[in-house]
Amino acid sequence: MKLTPKESAVYQEHFLMDSETVKRYVVERLGAFPAEAPIEVTEIGDGNINYVFRVVNQTTNESLVIKQADVLLRSSGRPLDIERNRIEAEILRLQNELAPQFVPQVYYYDQKMYALTMEDVSAYQNMRYELIEKHIFPAFSEEIAEYLARTLLLTSDLVLARDVKKQRVKAFINPEMCDISEDLVFTEPYNDYKKRNIVTAGNERFVAENLYENEPLQVEVALLRNNFMNNAQALLHGDLHTGSIFINQTGLKVIDPEFAFYGPAGYDIGNVLAHLYFPMIKNLLDPTSDREFHQWSKQMIREVYDKVQVKLAEYYDEAVTFSLYRNHTFKDTMLQGIMADAAGYAGTEIIRRVVGDSKVKELSLVSAEKKIAAERMLLKLGIQLIINRKHITCGNQLIDGITELEGE
Ligand code: ADP
Ligand code: MG
Repeated sequence: MKLTPKESAVYQEHFLMDSETVKRYVVERLGAFPAEAPIEVTEIGDGNINYVFRVVNQTTNESLVIKQADVLLRSSGRPLDIERNRIEAEILRLQNELAPQFVPQVYYYDQKMYALTMEDVSAYQNMRYELIEKHIFPAFSEEIAEYLARTLLLTSDLVLARDVKKQRVKAFINPEMCDISEDLVFTEPYNDYKKRNIVTAGNERFVAENLYENEPLQVEVALLRNNFMNNAQALLHGDLHTGSIFINQTGLKVIDPEFAFYGPAGYDIGNVLAHLYFPMIKNLLDPTSDREFHQWSKQMIREVYDKVQVKLAEYYDEAVTFSLYRNHTFKDTMLQGIMADAAGYAGTEIIRRVVGDSKVKELSLVSAEKKIAAERMLLKLGIQLIINRKHITCGNQLIDGITELEGE
């Protein structure tokens, strides 16, 4: 959609919009619709961070989505750097260039209002809820692998000019959002130092022995944490769980990249993998587990890993031109490193969603008597992924452990 933004005295300084203000904003500031058009505004934000509005011109049925950030978190009211909204707008633009099929188009970014106006992707559904309903999406692995390989490899300085890449590292420095991940993903699950972990009654001993007192695991997690903080390898989405993926039988769209920063490419891949295990384990423990969904879930975990690996190699051959990087041994070492990270970060993500305070919906839907077992399965899987990450070479190894669980 083409907008004709106008300068307006009203929107010179950030204030939080509501449905009524948004209605005026799209006309007065964005020039999206004529003043007389019947405009319907619906607040659709389900997240606990920002404010999201869907705006429809009821005459033409044209629509757009506005996402506005505040200086305070929507849920807890604590302050959070509002620059995250600019970062989100910029990465959406970049990713839309690299993978237009999979990323909503940004129509306008208003840096005074911290309001991002983008393509409405309401034709797609939140993938987390789709998987809870046991819907399957045969093209998922192919499409997400394409998105991952392109957005990750093509933002690295294996491909980008050195100066351009460094400018981007600077533009996407995102300390407050990274701080959240550094604590919630890489620290608290292993020592509960902020006393925010929520451990299911009956699993306290299991968690203490396997996480809080597991020194070999903690060393590996420390390495993954250090890599997350220091390896500015690729421009990451940074929060690529299934609630950030909107999907239907025709395709998918990735939204909500406000945690974006330059980090290890394997982090995004690992997040996608991790969030395929939750609906699978939930289904396995349901009173009536769906065989087809189970097989599809396993297939997806295997294929996401394998296809990302293949596509990274293909795009590498296509896009990397620097002579020293064209060496096969160098290429294999780089790609093996990314895939080992992917497995490790899948593990840290699984673990943090089980014991941390940001739980996944799937686990809340497991019956009380099976919850202890579900969480132990997931924790064991997560730990194995972390410990074995450098020995994993193909997707089949990611589901080895699952086959054992099927009979239980
Ligand atoms: P938050 O940062 O608060 O988590 P999200 O970006 O996840 O916000 O958006 C919250 C919800 O708003 C999404 O789950 C989705 O339902 C809806 N949404 C966000 N962006 C779009 C879009 N471009 N098109 C349609 N719906 C969207
Ligand atoms: Mg969100």
